[in-house]
Amino acid sequence: MKKLIRFFKAFFLVDIAVGLGVTLKRYFRRKITISYPEKQQVLPERFKGMIRLYKDEAGVPLCIACKACQRACPSNCFDIEGERNPETKKLHPVKFDWKLDRCSFCSLCVEACPTDAIRFSKEFRMSTVCKPALRFTLPEMYLEGDDLQRRLKGGPGA
Ligand code: SF4
Ligand code: SF4
Repeated sequence: MKKLIRFFKAFFLVDIAVGLGVTLKRYFRRKITISYPEKQQVLPERFKGMIRLYKDEAGVPLCIACKACQRACPSNCFDIEGERNPETKKLHPVKFDWKLDRCSFCSLCVEACPTDAIRFSKEFRMSTVCKPALRFTLPEMYLEGDDLQRRLKGGPGA
């Protein structure tokens, strides 16, 4: 009897019809995927993209080379050195090396920073086939958008 049922199911393509039915049902439902990169998803406010350094509204770098981020980082991602301006006596970084390939996005550096200089950006495109491109220097910590993508693909500075 089982053999007979299997024969009729195969003969009348029942399994294919069932599969097509599922496809048709899904086809008319609201889509939960988007056509990236033509359409971009709106990322949540607290999204943890690539870490970068920021400047204030006047374009002055916020980093004061206090090394709090370096001390807080459990993955040893940072190598920072600062210098004091002889006139203003303010510290500023002269070396700020950061290793994306070591970062676990734990956010301890962001929380430790007293000036909000280091923050998570909305940049989620961090793939590369060029390993040296995962090591960033001070000027590269300010890159974003297409400049950052060129840098990650092994462009200038890689
Ligand atoms: S997010 Fe965590 S692992 Fe990454 S650099 Fe900051 S402290 Fe280090
Ligand atoms: S990024 Fe913030 S915590 Fe790190 S050295 Fe600069 S000011 Fe200090």
